Amino acid sequence: MSDSSVTDSTQSPAGDSAAGPGKVVAFHYDLYDSSAKKVESSKEGDPVLCLHGERGVLIALQDAFVGKMPGDDFSITIPHEKAYGRHYPDRVQRLSRKKIDGGKQQMFRPGQIITIQAEHGPSPATVVKVGKFNLDLDINHPLAGVDLTFDVQIVSVREASAEEIAHGHAHGLGGHQH
Ligand SMILES: [Zn+2]
Repeated sequence: MSDSSVTDSTQSPAGDSAAGPGKVVAFHYDLYDSSAKKVESSKEGDPVLCLHGERGVLIALQDAFVGKMPGDDFSITIPHEKAYGRHYPDRVQRLSRKKIDGGKQQMFRPGQIITIQAEHGPSPATVVKVGKFNLDLDINHPLAGVDLTFDVQIVSVREASAEEIAHGHAHGLGGHQH
């Protein structure tokens, strides 16, 4: 006898809206350093879109998305080795103000994070010392050596489009718009 009420066994228990490969997650986050100081938040803007596996979002964070559903919130601490790596004390460079956009006029202060042109493109650097003609810059990533705690809220989960998978990133508000 045939039974027309048999359910589709290909469906996973978590359903279609669980995050993972082939999905785009929209999420909000607050980011804290190891002294519980908030260093970043997404909440003043749109949720961040992330195609699973895309560059630009920490892989250790994306791993934690797998299986999560819209409305889920969770907290995860990512050691710096899996985030922005070690802080190397010798990565301090003296750079002529001439090589920095607006560097001649601009008032700099120690601790300020500026963008410099590195070999691989724009890169953040922290001002260590301000001189008349030069700046001493710490070119470690500003979050190098910092263990990061993310408080995450999953806003939505959807199937990635073929175009997003081809491009390797999510499209839309909070993602790539082009
Ligand atoms: Zn694209």
